[in-house]
Amino acid sequence: MQSARPLGELENNAEFIPRHIGISEADERHMLSVIGEASRRALIESIVPRSIARTSEMRLPPPATEAGALAELRAIASRNRVARSFIGQGYHGTITPPVILRNILENPAWYTAYTPYQAEISQGRMEALVNFQTMVCDLTAMPIANASMLDEATAAAEAMTLAKRSVKSRSNTFVVAGDCHPQTIEVIQTRAAPLGIQVLLANSHEEWSERLAGDYFAVLAQYPSTSGRIDDLRADVDKVHAKQAAFIVAADLLALTLIVPPGEFGADIVCGTTQRFGMPMGAGGPHAAYLACRDEYKRSLPGRLVGVSIDSHGNPAYRLALQTREQHIRREKATSNICTAQVLPAVVASMYAVYHGPQGLKRIAQRVASYTAILAKGLEQLGHKPRAGAFFDTLSLHTGEATQAIVSKGHALNANLRVGWDEYIMVSLDETTTRDDIRLLWQVFARPGQALPDFAPFEKGVEPAIPTALRRTSAFLAHPVFNTHHSETGMLRYIRSLSDKDLALDRTMIPLGSCTMKLNATSEMIPITWPEFAHVHPFAPREQLQGYAELDRQLREWLCQATGYAGISLQPNAGSQGEYAGLLAIQAWHASRGQAHRDVCLIPSSAHGTNPASAQMVGMQVVVTACDASGNVDLADLEAKCRQHADKLAAVMITYPSTHGVFETQVKELCALVHRYGGRVYVDGANMNALVGVAAPGEFGGDVSHLNLHKTFCIPHGGGGPGVGPVCVVEDLVPFLPGHATGGVPGQVGAVSAAPLGNAAVLPISWMYCRMMGAQGLRQATEVAILSANYISTRLKDHYPTLYASRNGHVAHECILDLRPLKDTSGVTAEDVAKRLVDYGFHAPTLSFPVAGTLMVEPTESETLEELDRFIAAMVAIREEIRRVEKGEWPQDDNPLKNAPHTAASLLKSDWTHAYPRDAGAAVLDERRHAKYWPPVGRVDNVWGDRNLFCSCVPMSAYE
Ligand SMILES: *Cc1c(COP(=O)(O)O)cnc(C)c1O
Repeated sequence: MQSARPLGELENNAEFIPRHIGISEADERHMLSVIGEASRRALIESIVPRSIARTSEMRLPPPATEAGALAELRAIASRNRVARSFIGQGYHGTITPPVILRNILENPAWYTAYTPYQAEISQGRMEALVNFQTMVCDLTAMPIANASMLDEATAAAEAMTLAKRSVKSRSNTFVVAGDCHPQTIEVIQTRAAPLGIQVLLANSHEEWSERLAGDYFAVLAQYPSTSGRIDDLRADVDKVHAKQAAFIVAADLLALTLIVPPGEFGADIVCGTTQRFGMPMGAGGPHAAYLACRDEYKRSLPGRLVGVSIDSHGNPAYRLALQTREQHIRREKATSNICTAQVLPAVVASMYAVYHGPQGLKRIAQRVASYTAILAKGLEQLGHKPRAGAFFDTLSLHTGEATQAIVSKGHALNANLRVGWDEYIMVSLDETTTRDDIRLLWQVFARPGQALPDFAPFEKGVEPAIPTALRRTSAFLAHPVFNTHHSETGMLRYIRSLSDKDLALDRTMIPLGSCTMKLNATSEMIPITWPEFAHVHPFAPREQLQGYAELDRQLREWLCQATGYAGISLQPNAGSQGEYAGLLAIQAWHASRGQAHRDVCLIPSSAHGTNPASAQMVGMQVVVTACDASGNVDLADLEAKCRQHADKLAAVMITYPSTHGVFETQVKELCALVHRYGGRVYVDGANMNALVGVAAPGEFGGDVSHLNLHKTFCIPHGGGGPGVGPVCVVEDLVPFLPGHATGGVPGQVGAVSAAPLGNAAVLPISWMYCRMMGAQGLRQATEVAILSANYISTRLKDHYPTLYASRNGHVAHECILDLRPLKDTSGVTAEDVAKRLVDYGFHAPTLSFPVAGTLMVEPTESETLEELDRFIAAMVAIREEIRRVEKGEWPQDDNPLKNAPHTAASLLKSDWTHAYPRDAGAAVLDERRHAKYWPPVGRVDNVWGDRNLFCSCVPMSAYE
C-alpha cells in the first residue's frame, strides 16, 4: 500500500514554474559547480550590485496552475460583450480562414520566429512578407511597399514625416482632411507638435479647397473617407503637385479591389491597415498597417523592407533590404525608430490574399458593397436617406434628434453603431455581414410599428454605389502565388513548405542577446483567439469592454510591482513606441514647469539604435556620451556633458543592465547625477529579463522605462512583431502618460497608437505569464537566466573570451563573445561563425551588436541544460574548425566557415571540389543525425540585393 503524500507535493505536478524554467535543481547544482559558486543566491549576490537590490518582494497573486489561470482569465474575458459591430472606423469584422488561423496565427513555427536578420534561416517568412509587399503594391498601384507598420494611425504619421523629408516644398504645414479616422488625426497631432509641424484640418469641402490653395508640404485624405464617402481626388492631386507637395492617401485595401487605386491617380504615399484581411479586431490590435510610396522615396521609406537578392550559388534568395536606412545604422538620422513591427499579422494578411486570390477578394468586396447598397435602399424605405454620393461599405445618415434613441436601440439588439459629428449615424458592413444583420439594422432604424423592408426584391443583387469613373479597371495579384493555393490542401502545404524553411523556437534555441527569445507557453497563447478577446471593437461602448479594462488594470498593477514604477500605459505598440511615449512624458513635464527649452538628450554610444531615433522624433538634440574600456557608461564624460548642457539637459537614456551584458555598479550615482542637473533618467527596459524580482529601475533612480512584453513577458516575436512596449513612469510623470481622446482616455499628452490599449489582443499572454509564475517564479526566472548566461560564458571562455564582465568575471543575463582576434589568425569573421551555426542547426546569436565583430548570447531561463550543452558543443566544434584554418589545414578562403551555410544541393553535387570533405560541410553533431536542418539557400549576398533593388514576388522565370 502506498503511504499518503502531502497535498502540496501532489499539487506540484500542475505547477507552471518548472515548465517555464528549463533548468532543474540538479542541473543548477552542476552549472554552479562549473561557474564556481556555491548557490544561486551567492551567484546573484555576486552579480547584482547590493546598492540596487530590491528590498521588498513583488506583491503578486500566488502562482496559478495552467488550468487555474485559464479559468480565471475566462471569467475576465466573459466580462467583454461580443456585439455585432457596425462601427467601422478602420476596424471591421473579418473571417480568418481556419487553415490560416490554425497553421499561422496559432502555429509556433510562425509565431516563435525571430526578425529575419539571419536571411538563410528566414526564407519562408520573408517569402510571405514579399507576398505582403506585392499585395500592397498591386492593390494600391504603387511601385514599392514595406513589410508592415504598427497601425494605420502611426503609418499615416510616418507618411507625414516621409513626405517632409522627401518633397521640395519647405512649408511646415500638413493639411489633413477632417474626414479621416479620428484616431489617425489624433496620432498625427501628437507626432507633429514636437517637430514643429502645423496640422491644418479641413472639415468641409470649402475648407479643403481653401487649404489646398494655401501653402503646405503634404496633404492626407482618407479613401473611402471615415464617413464612407468616395471622392474623386484626381484634380486635387494636381493642385498639390503644383505646390511641390506630396499627396498622401489612407486607403482601404478591400475597397481598392473595386475602386480606382491611389497609384492610378498620382498619390505619392499610400498607407492604411490590412486588419480586415483576416486579423480579428482584437480591441484594436495587433494588425499590420502598410505603407507604400513612389519609387523616388524608397530610400527614405520607414520600416523594414524585404528584397530579393541572390545566394552564393546565384539563386534567388530573400533578405532585408536597404538596412542602411534603419536606426541600427543611422541612429538619430534613421528614417524612423520602428524596430519590432507587425510581421505575424502581415503574414496572416498576405496569406488571406494568397488563399482568396484576386477573384475571391473581389467577390468579398462586391458582396460587402452590394449588401451596403441593399441596406441603403431599405433604410430609404424606412425614411432614413443616406447621405448622397458614392460609397463602398459605410453609410452616413443624418438622424438628428433620434440619434441617441437609435444607437441605444442598437445596443439593446446587440448591434453597435457609430455616432459621427452633427447627429450623424454611420453604419459599416464587412465580410461577416449576413442578411440577418441587414434585417437587424432595418429593425434598429424602424420606428415603432413601421413595417420592415422585404429582402426578396434584392435577391437579384444591387449595383454597388460606385460610379463608373471611380471603378477600378486594372488587374491585380496576377502573380502565380495568388492564383495557385486556393484549395485547403494546397494552402496547407504552401504554409508548411514556407515554415519548413525557417528556424524558430519550436526547433532550436535562439540565443539572441538583447532580444530575449524565451518560452511562449501554449497556455499563454490560447486565450488570444477567444472570441471575447478577438471579436470586440476598440471603440465599442465602454460597458462592453469590461474584461479588457480588468485585464489592463491587473497587468499594469503587476508590471508596476515588477518595475517599481507608479504608473504605466499599455498603449505603445512596440519598445520603440514606448521610448517615444516616455520621451514625450519627459518633454511635457519640463514644459509644465516652464522649462520647455530643455531639449538635450544624452545617450551612451552603446545604446540600441531606437534610443537616438526616438529622441529625434520628439525633436530632442542627441548628444553621445562615451563608454569606458570595460564597456560601462563613462561617468566622467557623462558628467562633463551634463555640465556642458546643464540648462538644456532634458534626459539621459541608459540601458540597464547595459547592452554590454554587465550590471554597472554606479547606476544609482548616475541617476542622481542626472537629477542634479535637472534631467530625467530614461532606463531602456529591454534587459528587464535580468532584473524582474531582483532590482527595479523605478526604485534605483529611473524616471521612465519601456518594457518589451515581447521579450521579458513572453509575447512571441512573431518573426518581427507584434510587440507591446508599455511606458512606465514615476509618480510625478503619471499625468504625462499618453491619453486617447478618441477612445475616451483623457490625458495631457496625446495618443501614440491608433487604439487606446494598443495591441490589446496579445496582452492575455503576459497576463497568463505573470499569473502562473507569481513573484517567486518571476524572480527565479531572472536568476536562472543569469545563471545560464554565466554557464555559457564560463564553458566557452577558453574558446571565445567574453568581452565584458564585472570584476569577478561574471556577466548579467547575456554575454558578448569576442571573435575579433580570429580575423587575424584565420580570416574567419563573426558572420562566418553565425552562418556556420546554421549548419549545426542553430539560429545565430546577435551579430555585431553592440560591438562589431562579436556575437551576443542570451540563453534565457527557458532553455534546458541539454540545449545549452548542445549549443556549447556546436560552438566548440566550430572553434576546432577555425583551428584547422589557423594551422593551414584548410585554406582561409575555402573552408566550412567561409562557405556556410551549406545547402543539401551543394553537398550532393557530384563534383566536390572543396578543400574539406563533404561530411565536414554538412556539420552534424551526433545526436542530431536524424534531424538535420537544411538551409534552403546558401549565403545571401546583401550588397547585390541593394544594388539591384527588387521587393516584389520573384517572377517564375528567375528560378529557371
Ligand atoms: C528590442 C530593443 C529595443 C526596441 O524595441 P522594439 O520593441 O523592437 O521596438 C530598444 N532597446 C533595446 C536595448 C532593445 O533590445
